[in-house]
Amino acid sequence: MLKLKLDADKEDPLKILLLGAHSDDIEIGLGGTILRLADEYPNLAVTWVVFSATGDRAVEARKSAEDFLQGVPNKQIFLKEFKDGYFPSRVADIKDVFEELKKSLSPDVIFTHYRNDLHQDHRQLNELTWNTWRDHFILEYEIPKYDGDLGNPNFFVALDDELCERKTDLLMRHFQTQSNKHWFSPETFNALMRLRGVECKSTGGYAEAFYGRKVSF
Ligand SMILES: [Zn+2]
Repeated sequence: MLKLKLDADKEDPLKILLLGAHSDDIEIGLGGTILRLADEYPNLAVTWVVFSATGDRAVEARKSAEDFLQGVPNKQIFLKEFKDGYFPSRVADIKDVFEELKKSLSPDVIFTHYRNDLHQDHRQLNELTWNTWRDHFILEYEIPKYDGDLGNPNFFVALDDELCERKTDLLMRHFQTQSNKHWFSPETFNALMRLRGVECKSTGGYAEAFYGRKVSF
């Protein structure tokens, strides 16, 4: 399997943009990848945007993002207050947020939701990502859920058990409002990461997986 080395040096940090609909999406989809990038790229610059985070969920989202980004020198965390489940009816306002981000950022890698995700808010963000950034490296992350919409991703970030444990520990610690959900458990997250690890022959046993819809060299 070909390995990709993301380009970055001291003068020109690796800039990543993380887009998530709800307060725990980014962590579930790519928490391990963020921890690995933070370890391997000391000059990382991260912009983290959650579109629906209000009340307790906003407090959780901010604390969690700060913890996942501990040690990252350049970071911006934006929390928006769009109503959970209603993104398609607020598309013009959400598009305005994307246009603002586009003015101030030119990220090297953009992480967004999977195009065929069955949650309407997730799909809406995917669509806006692709029509806002038209010459960028975009990776789409996956969220396990009741709807059963997992597919066959083609881009993998290998993880070891230590990174997986850090990810699931942070998720469990920060998202207490989700603890009564039947699927919100370390077993769910570890099971998917183990399966993706098998698919990419990860030496550490685990991986997070993405859809790299367009990649050019
Ligand atoms: Zn979500």
